[in-house]
Parts: sequence; structure tokens; C-alpha cells
Amino acid sequence: MTGMAQPSKPFAEPTGAGPASALALHLRRSIEHLLHRMPAPVREVANEVGRSLAPQRGLVLQLEQLLKERERLAEELRAANEMLVELAMTDPLTGMSNRRYFDEALKRDLARTERQGGATLTLVLIDADHFKAVNDTYGHNGGDTVLKEIAMVLRESTRVSDVAARVGGEEFALILPQTSSDNALVVAERVRTRVAARRIAHDDGRIMQASVSVGLATACSPGCRNHGKVLYEAADRALYAAKGAGRNNVQVAKL
Ligand code: GH3
Ligand code: MG
Ligand code: MG
Repeated sequence: MTGMAQPSKPFAEPTGAGPASALALHLRRSIEHLLHRMPAPVREVANEVGRSLAPQRGLVLQLEQLLKERERLAEELRAANEMLVELAMTDPLTGMSNRRYFDEALKRDLARTERQGGATLTLVLIDADHFKAVNDTYGHNGGDTVLKEIAMVLRESTRVSDVAARVGGEEFALILPQTSSDNALVVAERVRTRVAARRIAHDDGRIMQASVSVGLATACSPGCRNHGKVLYEAADRALYAAKGAGRNNVQVAKL
């Protein structure tokens, strides 16, 4: 049509993504389509209305940005909580699981063993020999380095499905699910010989050596679910026997 003024665009192109922007775009297109078909005076009034709505459009965009920010913060909080749980279960010196994790894991793995009729689980307790003397000779730093090396041996000598934890100052534990006493003895001997063979470099250049005594005890289903404490005490008695037998050796508990 000649002489007809082109309608101005009262509703600015919406920016940003999201459902509110998509809706705004759809509405703007519908309104422009309608404006084309209106007489000029009506269109003028519509333009005026559009201009007066500008502040509301700004609010929608602000709201969208706030929602996105809230999602981002919720994700950050979730990740921080996960890290806290991880830290609460980790020994800071060696990076291994700590006593708190070990206690939970032993309950969990014994319950699992109980569900698999006829299955066995072996608990291995490991204690560094004459560790007081190691500290006295090489200082606390030297002692810490030795503990980290023992942790490394334990990691290298076990499967991913086993649990290796530091349960006390110079005491460690392994939970070996689906492992008989004989097979656990092989693992325990491997740990013992590897620790004894290790030449550990002190910060000051001296070479340190260590040894461990080991006690192990095995639980069999059925009936092992509530026997965490009994099992631990049995392994501890075996460990005590290993100390009595001259240290740097492995003893198996008779349950
Ligand atoms: P045994 O062969 O009978 O086990 O003798 P031991 O000297 O290892 O046993 P004892 O229980 O008398 O001493 C343990 C030592 O371990 C004493 C303690 O200072 C040391 N210790 C405990 N935790 C740490 C630690 O985090 N770092 C260092 N460097 N030493 C530790
Ligand atoms: Mg000890
Ligand atoms: Mg000791």
C-alpha cells in the first residue's frame, strides 16, 4: 500500500537464551504482524504501549540472569560438599583412607560378604616395627617419609576393590573382600618383603629402612555380618604374636 508508514519496532529484539527470551521473540513477531494490518492511529497507540513496556523487558532479562547465577552457585555448593566428604575420609599425610572410612568400609564389606553365601573376607593389620626408633634416628620428618613409603607399598600390593587405610599413627589395615586366609597370606608377605626391601631416601640424603609386622584374620559367611569387632581383635592378636615372634613377620589368627 502506498503512503502507509512503515511500523516502527516498539518491542526491541530480545537478547539472551531461555524460555523467557523465546516467548518474548514469539510475542514480538505476532505483534509486528498485527501492527502491519492496523490503521496508522491505532499503530501509534500500540507503539506508545510498547515503549512503556521497556522496563518490564529489562526485568525479565535480569530475572533470567539471576536464575542462571543461582544454578551456578548450587553446582559450586554441591562440588564443595563432595570435597568435604572426601576430605573427612582421607588421611592428610598419606592420602589413604582414614580410620573413619575404614570402619564404615568394614561394616559394608562384611554385610556384602554375608549376602554372598560361603564367601570369605580377610582383614590384615600392619604395624611399623620400632617406629619410635625411626623417629629418634631420622626425626619426625624422616618418620613421615617412611609412613608415606609404606602407604605406597600397600597401594601397589592391593586391588582397587580392596580397602587400604591408615588406622593409627604407624598402623595400617587392608580389607580384602572375597579373599581366603591363604590368598591374604600371599598379599601380606608381599607387603612385608616389599617394605623391608625398600631403600627410602631422607631429605638430608641418608637412606632409611623399615619393616612391618602383620596379623590377619578371616571371616566366613554365614554369620560374619556383625563380627567386625571380633575380626579386628583377632587380627590384632595375630599382629601382637608377630611382634612377639621377632617382628618383620606375618601371623594368621585362629578364630
Ligand atoms: P613396635 O615395633 O612394638 O610397634 O614399636 P614402635 O616403636 O613402632 O611402637 P610404639 O607404639 O612404641 O611407637 C609408635 C611410634 O610411632 C611413636 C609415635 O611417635 C610414632 N608415630 C605415630 N604417628 C606418627 C606420625 O604421624 N608420624 C611420625 N613420624 N611418627 C608417628
Ligand atoms: Mg602401633
Ligand atoms: Mg609400631
